[in-house]
Amino acid sequence: MGFSTDCVHAGQWIDPHSGAVMVPIYQTSTYQQQGIGKHKGYEYARTQNPTRQALEDNVAALEKGACGFAFASGMAAINALMSLFEAGDHFIVTGNTYGGTFRLFDRILRKFGLTFTFVDTSNLDAVKAAIKPETKMMFVETPTNPMLTLTDIKAVAAVAKENNILLCVDNTFATPYRQRPIELGADFVNHSTTKYLNGHSDCVGGVLVAKDESWREKIHFVQNSAGAILGPMDSWLTLRGIKTLAVRMDRHESNGRAVAKALTEMKGVGKVIYPGLDNYPQRELALSQMGSFGAMVSFTVENQERAEEVLTRFKLFSLAESLGGVESLVCHPATMTHAAVPAEARAELGISDGLIRLSVGIEDEADLIADLVQAVNG
Ligand SMILES: *Cc1c(COP(=O)(O)O)cnc(C)c1O
Repeated sequence: MGFSTDCVHAGQWIDPHSGAVMVPIYQTSTYQQQGIGKHKGYEYARTQNPTRQALEDNVAALEKGACGFAFASGMAAINALMSLFEAGDHFIVTGNTYGGTFRLFDRILRKFGLTFTFVDTSNLDAVKAAIKPETKMMFVETPTNPMLTLTDIKAVAAVAKENNILLCVDNTFATPYRQRPIELGADFVNHSTTKYLNGHSDCVGGVLVAKDESWREKIHFVQNSAGAILGPMDSWLTLRGIKTLAVRMDRHESNGRAVAKALTEMKGVGKVIYPGLDNYPQRELALSQMGSFGAMVSFTVENQERAEEVLTRFKLFSLAESLGGVESLVCHPATMTHAAVPAEARAELGISDGLIRLSVGIEDEADLIADLVQAVNG
């Protein structure tokens, strides 16, 4: 089946009780058993829930993996993945990874004896140089936020394989519509479904997908033992969101291209960062790996004062953290999403005080551009 068909149907079934075409919200904590040890595959809702399972099977199919697991947030999914490892294990992580991922690894998991080297994974030599005998997995995020730096997944997968190291790719930004890391050699894919997969900014969630069936029991054991499951209502909302993923992404992207182009023509705008622009250094990799350029656009104005002026003038774009919803959002990474990153590290990553990040929604292109023009020009 094609991708759009899978978005609508994969992992889902007609309710045998009523014929309902939508998987019901199984808002239950437990299930009646027929006798000792006799049940229908459902015992307790932390362990199994049909609505959650439909979502898990759906995302696993979209990512071309063997099995999927849904968690209470994107961070809970990453934490579950890391629970598969033990003290002494070492990990190579994309330097400019999502701030919450950095915080989990650096402030929490280090305490349990896991060790991390943060490197620019777009630089293959840097990745190779970071490998130690105890390296167990590479954790790669591509494209990154808000600089949109790409890592060549096929290339790092080859290095990982040569060295008997696992590879996980955070596919939150690109979505499986545009990038399927497992097909490029990754062992795991993780998502914050809070962003494009759910796509409507109305629930927080995460999914972990494994390439091989052999991980099913191990990940399910962690999910059930640690218990950070996604609830049935949120699973259902996310399933509903995914049905329109392909059509939403097409509109997000055409708006993203238009907004990026308009920004390059605006006075008062410095640098525009968008993989679809001709001057973008990794444009070719973006095309070959994602086939498109997404709808995240960053640009700079002179300084923080100017940024503040611009940010407060937006009428249609809302000043907010997060991304990937149908509505357009704008944020100031230096004081919002990346406030926890020390100033020097921010400068190294290119996150200046005049940097503004847009998550371009699916509204009318002309309205978005008009709002940008009035916000930038005053
Ligand atoms: C938001 C995000 C996360 C964390 O997900 P939550 O649902 O907020 O816990 C992880 N990775 C990336 C790339 C994200 O954008």
